[in-house]
This record gives sequence, C-alpha cells and structure tokens, in this order.
Amino acid sequence: MSFTESEERQALRKAVAELGRKYGHEYTLKAARSGGHTTELWNEAGELGYLGVSVPEEFGGGGGGIGDLAAVCEELGATGTGLLQMVVSPAICATIIARFGTPEQKSRWLPGFADGTLRMAFAITEPDAGSNAHRLTTTARRVGDGWVLNGRKVYISCVDESQSVMVVGRTEDAKTGKLKPALFVVPTDAPGFEFQRIEMDVIAPDSQFQVFIDDVHLPAEALVGSEDAALMQLFAGLNPERIMASAYAVGMGRFALDKAVEYAKTRTVWKEPIGAHQAVAHPLAKAKVELELAKLMTQKAAALYDSGDDMAAGEAANMAKYAAGEAVVNAVDAAVQTHGGNGLASEYGLGALVAASRLTRIAPVSREMILNFVAQFSLGLPKSY
Ligand SMILES: Cc1cc2nc3c(=O)[nH]c(=O)nc-3n(C[C@H](O)[C@H](O)[C@H](O)COP(=O)(O)OP(=O)(O)OC[C@H]3O[C@@H](n4cnc5c(N)ncnc54)[C@H](O)[C@@H]3O)c2cc1C
Repeated sequence: MSFTESEERQALRKAVAELGRKYGHEYTLKAARSGGHTTELWNEAGELGYLGVSVPEEFGGGGGGIGDLAAVCEELGATGTGLLQMVVSPAICATIIARFGTPEQKSRWLPGFADGTLRMAFAITEPDAGSNAHRLTTTARRVGDGWVLNGRKVYISCVDESQSVMVVGRTEDAKTGKLKPALFVVPTDAPGFEFQRIEMDVIAPDSQFQVFIDDVHLPAEALVGSEDAALMQLFAGLNPERIMASAYAVGMGRFALDKAVEYAKTRTVWKEPIGAHQAVAHPLAKAKVELELAKLMTQKAAALYDSGDDMAAGEAANMAKYAAGEAVVNAVDAAVQTHGGNGLASEYGLGALVAASRLTRIAPVSREMILNFVAQFSLGLPKSY
C-alpha cells in the first residue's frame, strides 16, 4: 500500500492546476453570472488530453484510471474552475461504454470522449422516482429492429452543452419487479426529445434541465452494451460518478480554504492578522483535516475501482462522497465566516460557492441514501425503507 501518488499523477495534477489558474475563478464566475458556460476551458482541457485520461489508449485516451480523472477534476476545482460535467461525461458515460459497449459503440464514441469533443449528459433522476431508482418509468419498447423511448427526467446537467444523453430506462418487458435498467444513448436533437432549463439559485456555469422524451425512435445500437447486463453496467458508471463528485467537492473545498487562509493571514483589525485568533484558525484547521480525509477516501475508492474491485469500490465511493460533501460545505462556510462581510460580497466570489457546495450533499446520491447504504451494507442493520 502506498500513500504517495505516482510521479505521473503528481505531474498531471500540476499541469492541470496550471491550466485552471490560467482561467481562474473570475472566468468561471463571469460565465456563471451571465448565464454562460466555460466552454473554452472544457475545450482546452480536452485538447490537452485531461478529459480523456481514463479513456483506453487505443481510442486516443490516456489509458489511466478513474483515479487520474478524479485528480484532474479536483485540481480544476482547487483553482476555482471546476467542471461539473466531468462527473458525468468522461466518468459515467465513457466508462460504461469502454467497459460494456460493443466494438462499434467504442469506436464511435470513445475518441470523442478522449479529446472532449463529445459531451454526453446522463439522465437517471425522474420527477416521481427521485432517490428510488426502482420506480423509474422511462420505458423502451421494441419496434422493428430498434426502440421507441418514452419518459421524463429532471435535474439533468448540461443537456444544452451535450450532443447526446445516456438515458437510464427500462425495457417494456421489465416494467415490474426488480429494477432491470437499460441504457440508451439519445441524441439531444432527436425528434421527440425536448429539454427545458430549470431556474436554479446556484451560481454555476452549468445548467440543469427537465427532459421530455416522447416517442423517440432509436436504432438498435442506441442500447448500450447488453440488455441483460445493464444493472452491472449502471453500477460500473455510478461508482465513478460518486468518486468524481467527491473529487469535485474536495477541489472546491480546497479552493475556498486557500482563499480563507490567505485572507486570515493578511486581514488585520486588531493588532495581529485575524488568523491569530483561534476562533478563526480552528474552523480552517478543521476544514483542512476534513478535506484531507475526504481526499484520502476518494483516492482509496478510485484505487479499488481501478483495481477492478467493484464491490469494495462501491462502499468506499459512497463513504468518500459523504465525507467530501460534508467537508466542502464546512470549508465554504468557514471561508465565508473568515471573510466577514466580504464573505458575501460578489467581489470575493465565496457567496457563489454556498449553494454550489451544498449541492454535493444532495447529488448524485444524497447524504441520507449513503447513510442508508452504510447502515444496511456496512453495518448489517435492517433496511429502513
Ligand atoms: C444541481 C444538480 C445537478 C444534478 N444533475 C443530475 C444529472 O446530471 N443527472 C441525473 O440523473 N440527476 C441529476 N441530479 C439529481 C440528483 O441526483 C437528485 O436530486 C438526487 O439523487 C436526490 O433525488 P431527489 O431530488 O428526487 O430527492 P428525493 O428522492 O425526493 O429526496 C428528498 C429528500 O428525502 C431524502 N430521502 C429520500 N428517500 C429517503 C430514504 N429512504 N431514507 C432517508 N431519506 C430519504 C433524500 O435524502 C432527500 O434529502 C442533479 C441534482 C442537482 C440538484
């Protein structure tokens, strides 16, 4: 067991951080406040190969693992330029296709994931299913060689920036009983596929959408991998999603903490900088401890996933997501408090992180559902719901 990342990964972190600093938090904030996107950053990160680090080399990627992709995500976040869609497009969609796609699907989609030119959203959440994926009603019916898909999805990120969406549905013959999901890649311009922006009180450069799928005709090859292995496929994508959400949160927490520490060292209202007061220093020290712990758990989850141990990775990914969600919320809160009134002034950009950090307690899986998982599977307690 090693607690030191490889030289290669350390170099990757450094290079990504440089790219993030080139754009800076101001760039992300400006895009967010104007209802824009951070497309230039996404494109440059893609061109430099950072979004494709975990795509197999034979398809133009870096041939690394989720640990590498999480490092990219965290380092961008730590410079205030986090890319939310990294949690979805290269982490869930590319991973599922690389692991389970047919040879045709791999050669069609993976090169675009490798250089970031393909952006794919991921849609599992439904208005009436929420945390209970067993209640998904998006349904695919076989018609001739292909499929006709119908359903509703909600809070789907970045649909407007994506060429397609990986939709989690179920096939008509699997409507009842245990969840037997089926994954379909649906082009965002397919007839019958509509999306509507949801107004959110989150200052972020990415938007959330309600998605309406009405009699969308899809060819047979829109079904990812095998119909019968879809549950395994889904989990193969959801563990990376949790690992990436943790990395995204840890990155944002690091950014907020760095700003707070800098401020605490320089702001003087009595005779010494405010950081000399333990009431200011201790919450920052606590945030540091919590972020380091969350990062360590994220690295463990990624290492387990990359070693092929999906079961152990699942438990660790849930724990990492829980820890990172709590750590970032506390870090942002401590950073705001350290800044006093400036903590909520637009100029300092920290107020913008309050709702954005809060998100990581809710999505992609809520804090409560993680505690349910740990209570039931890690502790062997009875299922409570
Ligand atoms: C900004 C943002 C981006 C998102 N992006 C995506 C995306 O790209 N794709 C996608 O598919 N989804 C996305 N989501 C959806 C997200 O994954 C869901 O919001 C989340 O899983 C919770 O589901 P819900 O909102 O329906 O809450 P609900 O399931 O309605 O839950 C509401 C509350 O009740 C609690 N609760 C529910 N059941 C239980 C239980 N059994 N025990 C204890 N507590 C329980 C929950 O923890 C939560 O606190 C996004 C959400 C947000 C806010």
